This record gives sequence, structure tokens and C-alpha cells, in this order.
Amino acid sequence: MSEHSHGGDRPPVSVRAEALEALLTERGLVKPEVLDGFISRFVNDVGPMNGAKVVAKAWTDDDYRQRLLEDGTAAIAELGFSGPQGEHMVVIENTDDVHNVVVCTLCSCYPWPVLGLPPEWYKDPAYRSRIVRDPRTLLGEMGLDLDDDTEVRVWDSSAENRYLVLPQRPDGAEGLSEEDLAGLVTRDAMVGVAKVSAP
Ligand code: FE
Repeated sequence: MSEHSHGGDRPPVSVRAEALEALLTERGLVKPEVLDGFISRFVNDVGPMNGAKVVAKAWTDDDYRQRLLEDGTAAIAELGFSGPQGEHMVVIENTDDVHNVVVCTLCSCYPWPVLGLPPEWYKDPAYRSRIVRDPRTLLGEMGLDLDDDTEVRVWDSSAENRYLVLPQRPDGAEGLSEEDLAGLVTRDAMVGVAKVSAP
């Protein structure tokens, strides 16, 4: 396995992480303040805005959109976004006929360089099981009502692939700059549990 493995009945990741941090600190291999800086970077500096810039560029530059769908990792790196948990990015595009939604059924694999750290609900066992069994109902509960004839595709993340949903550009956003478009794009839309609304 590469940077991240899946396990069965193990203690929660937070407990394992604390144990690991304590062990590594005790052995002098890491400094807690370095870890804190790393976490702060992904929580405060990255956030979902990197992903929003990727989406806005794809909406306004069709050549970029094609490259993004063909090789997500490379196209995202063009904008300077890369690093841990983002080495194998696959971008999937929502259309009038297909709605994509992302999960990690076994833990919480998530594309950090474009979305930051995952929200709590993404790590919740209820989300991880129900989005697979009955995505339409759960999406409805989360506020996303899809047409009956829209096909829902659920993508299960892993160490091999991290997914980013390319949402549909909303009607009524014509004439907006790329920067203003990025401001409309939410984290939830890029996980696939929401759509992007017009301003
Ligand atoms: Fe995972």
C-alpha cells in the first residue's frame, strides 16, 4: 500500500493518529509544532478554494476541461495544486443525465490538495454506507433533489484514486469572471452532495 491503507475493525483514526504522534514525538522523529503547522495548512490555507479554482477554469477554458478529465493529477498540478493525498486525481463531470458523488466506504480518503481536510459527515459511517446503498434518498436528505431520470454514480475513493466532481455550471452565471465563478463553487458541490447555485 502507498501512503494510506484501509483497515477493518481498528480504533478510530483520531485515536491511532494521537498514538502515532505520541510515539514519533517520544522518539524524537517529529516535533508536535511541525505537525500542527501541517494540519493548519490544510485546514486554513488550502480549504476547498483550490478545487473551486480548478472548476472555474474548467468552466471557462474548454481545453483545460478536456485535460482535466483526461488526467486530473496533471491538470490540477498546472494550477500549482499537488501533494499528499492528491497524487492520483480523477475528475468526474456532472451532466444533465449523470450526477456523480464521492465517498470513501472504508475510511476517509479525500483529495486534500484541492479540498483541504474532509468534513465530519464525510467520515461518518452512516454517510459511507448509505450513499452506496441508496444515494438518491441520502442526497435528498442532504438537500439535493435529483430528477428521477438522472443517473447517480457513486465513486469509492482509495489510496489509488481520489475523486473530484466537476459540477455543472449554473444557469444565470453568464458574464461572470473566472474568479467570481470560483466564488460560487462549494466544497459540497465538488464532493457531489450539492449543486452549484447561480449568484
Ligand atoms: Fe479511505
